[in-house]
Amino acid sequence: MCDRHGCDQPGDCPAPKSPNSPERWYFCTEHAGEYNRNWDYFQGLSAEEAAARAADEGRTASGYQQASHYGWGGPGDGTRSRDEMRALEALELDSDADFETIKKTWRRLAKANHPDARPGDAAAAERFRQVQTAYEVLRSAEERRAA
Ligand SMILES: [Zn+2]
Repeated sequence: MCDRHGCDQPGDCPAPKSPNSPERWYFCTEHAGEYNRNWDYFQGLSAEEAAARAADEGRTASGYQQASHYGWGGPGDGTRSRDEMRALEALELDSDADFETIKKTWRRLAKANHPDARPGDAAAAERFRQVQTAYEVLRSAEERRAA
């Protein structure tokens, strides 16, 4: 059965749930095509860059903690890691944006680029993914700080 919600076609087209993940969705032909069209996150990247991005995304909370050893030496309040600075950049925010601002901006960008709002728009799908990943980085950093 196709994994796409509400679809009752036979799901005989496997698609990776995330890069390098052994987990698979099983879609019908039509929904596999739709999934692949939206799956352009790695387009335009070299194999090396794509692997680096996949590694970033697969990073666990403890991985982020390790990464925070490499403190950011540039602008900002000096407490944000390189990962967080990159995430802020992805959200088009200044290095000293507070978490309320981050949350508001994330909501706005996620809403504007959501697949439901922009069906079939591959660029929006990629942007949506970037925004989600960036927010996840910033949220877990915020939680760590509050802990
Ligand atoms: Zn389907």
